[in-house]
Amino acid sequence: MEWLGHLYKKLELLDKAIVKCHQCPRLVEWREDVAVTKRKAYENEKYWGKPVPGFGPSDARIVILGLAPGAHGANRTGRIFTGDSSGDWLYGSLHRNGIAKIPTSTSAKDGQALKDTRIACAVRCAPPDNKPSTEERHTCAPFLTHEFSLASKTTTAYLALGSFAWQATISTLRQLGHEIETTKFAHGAKVIFKDGDKKITIIGSYHPSQQNTFTGKLTKAMLDKVIKQAAKAAGIG
Ligand code: SF4
Repeated sequence: MEWLGHLYKKLELLDKAIVKCHQCPRLVEWREDVAVTKRKAYENEKYWGKPVPGFGPSDARIVILGLAPGAHGANRTGRIFTGDSSGDWLYGSLHRNGIAKIPTSTSAKDGQALKDTRIACAVRCAPPDNKPSTEERHTCAPFLTHEFSLASKTTTAYLALGSFAWQATISTLRQLGHEIETTKFAHGAKVIFKDGDKKITIIGSYHPSQQNTFTGKLTKAMLDKVIKQAAKAAGIG
């Protein structure tokens, strides 16, 4: 798919287009298959089983980016980082920092709301083993380019969760014409660039996946710290 140009004037319209997307045959089959087979704990629930759009206000000052929806998390609930352990960590930290209305994120109807912050994923469909192929990443990339383009009117801080989100954030912003120095991903890595008079900050964080939180690679204090940095860079709180 080519860069979407100015086809979508509002994030709400982009979100609607994302939800209808069927461009990646392997991911379409997987997301829909998971929605039918289900995990035993959720066997009585109706899974979303579609691409997952961003969540949060269209005039957000912080954009948080992850890799892709979890098979039994966002692919089940229909809201990004919702219904799994990664979401518990992320929204818990956002709540401690005054950004999320409630400390948990269990379903799309739980009343959660974000202050000045939008959360999205670089790939919008749940992939097998959390690993989208290079081609699938490439196919989905224009949605992110367009989302960043629309959000960039108000966004001054990006928080990238994991090395792929870090690369996707930088390459997408470069595609939008920004000059950004090459910086290696690390927890707490920071890149600052100018957009006219605005100072834009990109911050890296380890992804709050169980692989990182169970092993202690990422602690709540570490996550709170980078979210606090993003809030400060965006002038929130
Ligand atoms: S990953 Fe992206 S491009 Fe591929 S089917 Fe899902 S929404 Fe469409």
